[in-house]
Amino acid sequence: MSEVMEKIKQAKVEYKSEVKPTWCPGCGDYGVLAAFIRALGEMKIPTHKLSIVSGIGCSSRFPHFVRGYNLHTVHGRALPVALGVKIANPEIEVFVVGGDGDGFAIGGGHIPHVARRNPDMVYIILDNAIYGLTKGQVSPTSTLTMTTTTTPYGAIEPPINPVMLLLAYGATFVARGFSSNTKQLTQLIIEATRHKGFAAIHVISPCPTFNMEITFDFVREKVVEIPPEHDPTNKLKAFELAMAQDKIYTGIFYREERPTFESNLEKIISKFDGAIDEAVKKERLEKLF
Ligand code: SF4
Ligand code: MG
Repeated sequence: MSEVMEKIKQAKVEYKSEVKPTWCPGCGDYGVLAAFIRALGEMKIPTHKLSIVSGIGCSSRFPHFVRGYNLHTVHGRALPVALGVKIANPEIEVFVVGGDGDGFAIGGGHIPHVARRNPDMVYIILDNAIYGLTKGQVSPTSTLTMTTTTTPYGAIEPPINPVMLLLAYGATFVARGFSSNTKQLTQLIIEATRHKGFAAIHVISPCPTFNMEITFDFVREKVVEIPPEHDPTNKLKAFELAMAQDKIYTGIFYREERPTFESNLEKIISKFDGAIDEAVKKERLEKLF
């Protein structure tokens, strides 16, 4: 057995839970799970320091399949729950996993605020451009021409662009992967985890059961790795790559160093403790009530 295969085998033993994935045969999410397990194996994160938080949807079943202190929460609320985990124990490596519907529809309002707070966590968005768990309704990333159970004559709204949104919201690490390219995705997950701040990875993860338009072949034809000369500190260039119509770029679009939410919070707490003594606090409270 080659060294790489031996490492993958070891990672599976260490990190795969006893729960077998219930995804349909051929679902893109299997590739993301494989890359995630490989990345954990490379980084050797102890399972007692690992927390995977998800919302609702096919991809949000993810936390069941990996060992850790994981939470399968409610629809669209994974990010605020994960933020709570991080604040309670900044030592924990927090991963948020969910789909396009969970992240960009019901949970869409949370992304800008978590991005600007910049907690040290990784958000992996498995985008199949459809609601798979509820049997194929239009999602925020479905294309206009896509017919679904709720849009039998095509969609009315154009799709959103997840990478552009993440860049605009101020995420300090923005990348895109494809579930079929587990080698690249493993590396992206490792880079995102090493980044100090809010790292988002948009993963194209096709749903062969309900999405007949954004298929593996369709994505394979369009997918191109970001050229090595791209400067990931150049946000304008990152936007340009994200806006490409004829290609789907994968790799790291953007990264920036900015203090994390946890470190800012610590500074505020230390200022508060040092600046206001008990008597002043009491006087201020009395004035308030
Ligand atoms: Fe995957 Fe689609 Fe099946 Fe859900 S419905 S498990 S996204 S193939
Ligand atoms: Mg979806």
